[in-house]
Amino acid sequence: MRGWIVPPPKASAKSAAEFERERHAKVRALEAQGLLKSARIKMALLEVPREEFIPREYRDYAYEEVPLPLPGANATISCPHSYPLFYEPLGLARGHRFLEIGTGSGYGAAVAREVVGDEGLVVSIEIDPLTHDFARRNLERMGYADVQLVLGDGGLGYAPAAPYDRVAFTAACGSFPAPVLAQVKIGGRAIAPLIEDDRQILTLLTKEACGERREKICPVLYVALRGAYGAEALF
Ligand code: SAH
Repeated sequence: MRGWIVPPPKASAKSAAEFERERHAKVRALEAQGLLKSARIKMALLEVPREEFIPREYRDYAYEEVPLPLPGANATISCPHSYPLFYEPLGLARGHRFLEIGTGSGYGAAVAREVVGDEGLVVSIEIDPLTHDFARRNLERMGYADVQLVLGDGGLGYAPAAPYDRVAFTAACGSFPAPVLAQVKIGGRAIAPLIEDDRQILTLLTKEACGERREKICPVLYVALRGAYGAEALF
C-alpha cells in the first residue's frame, strides 16, 4: 500500500485480556485526540473485538495505527482511528440504513451494526471474492450474520436495499459515483476519500432537496476504488 509500512507477519502471542486492555486504551486515546465524541460510537468500538477481524499473522498489531493486509487484491483493514474519523462526521446513529463500500475485514460493518442497532440496517459491498469471503466468515463467527454482505461493484451501490441514510466509501474515488448518490435519502450523507491531484481528501457530502453540500475534512490515504468508477489510474 502506497505510503504505509506494513509490519512483519508474526505468530500471535497476545491473550484476550491483553487485547481488551489495548481496545480500552485505544478508545481513550481516540477520545483524547477529539476524534471520538459520540457515546454510541464509543460503545460500538468497545464492543467489537478488532483482533477477530485480522489474519492471524497480523493479529497482535490490531490496535496499532496502521492498515493491515487482508486476503484479496490490495485489501486492508483500515487503521483504528479511521472508524470514528468516518462515522462521527457522518453522524451515524441508531436506526440508520447504512451502506459501506469496501467490506474489507468486516470490522467497519460490525462497528456500524452496533451503532445503528436492531432498528437499523447495514449493507456492505466488496468487489474481491476472497476478501468478501473473509469478511463473511468473520462476521458470522462474531454474531453479525444480519449484516447484509454483497459481492459486487460498490460504485453501483446496491439498489435493492436503497435508500440509505448514510454511506461510507472505504476506498478512494475520483468523485462520488452517481449511482450511489441516487440511493442516498434527501438529508442523507455520504463520506469518501476523494482524489485531488496527488492527494486524497476525506470529503463529507450532504444531499439536499435541490443540490448538495460538501465539506472537506482532512487528507487521508486509502486504497483506490476498483470497478466501473475505478480510481486505480488516478492514484
Ligand atoms: N472497511 C474495511 C476496509 C476496507 S479497505 C474494513 O473495515 O476492514 C477497502 C476495500 O474496498 C478493499 O477490501 C477493496 O477490495 C474494496 N473495494 C475496492 N473497490 C471496490 C468496489 N468498487 N466495490 C466494492 N469494494 C471495493
